[in-house]
Amino acid sequence: METDIGALLSKEMFFSGTQVNYFIVCKTKLWLFSHFVTMEHSSDLVSYGKLVHETTYGEKKKEIVIDDRIAIDFIQKGDTVVLHEVKKGKRLEKAHRYQLLYYLYYLNELKGVENVEGEIDYPLLRKKEHIVLTENLKEEMRNILKGIKEVIAMPEPPEPAYMRICRKCAYFEFCWV
Ligand code: SF4
Repeated sequence: METDIGALLSKEMFFSGTQVNYFIVCKTKLWLFSHFVTMEHSSDLVSYGKLVHETTYGEKKKEIVIDDRIAIDFIQKGDTVVLHEVKKGKRLEKAHRYQLLYYLYYLNELKGVENVEGEIDYPLLRKKEHIVLTENLKEEMRNILKGIKEVIAMPEPPEPAYMRICRKCAYFEFCWV
C-alpha cells in the first residue's frame, strides 16, 4: 500500500524521532530544538524509500541514518521487519519507547509496511524491550504528533520545569542561567 503523498504532507508526519523523544522528555526542549534547528523535510520520502529497499534486500544493517535525523541502529530481515535501537540506560526509557514507536508508525502509515516491530536493546543492562504497534498505540502516536504540532506552534517556549536531566541538557543556560 503506497500512501497518497498529498494527503501525507497535510499530516504531522515529518517530525523527527528526536522531536518525539523531546515531547516526552521536555516540551521546552522540544520547542527550542524545533525553532533553532533547521530541518530538511523534502528528502524524507526518498530516504524512506531507501530504507524499505534496504529492509527488503539487506539481511542485517548495522546502522541506518536518515537525513541526520532518524537513526535506526539496525534492521533485520525476516518475516517481520525488526527495527533495533541500542540504548545505554533506561533513564529515558519512556522517550526511547515512543521514539521507536514513531519509526514503526512512520513505516506502517507512510510506507504501508505491515509486519514491522521494534526492539530496544540495553546491552549494558542485558535487557530488551519488544515493541509492537497496536491500534491503541497508533492512536496514542497520533495524539503525540498533534501535541508536538501544538507545542511548536506556541509563540514562546513552554515554561521550563527543572529536572535532573537539565544539567546535561544543551539548553541548560537558556533555561536556568
Ligand atoms: S534545561 Fe531542562 S527544562 Fe530546559 S530544555 Fe533542557 S531539559 Fe528542558
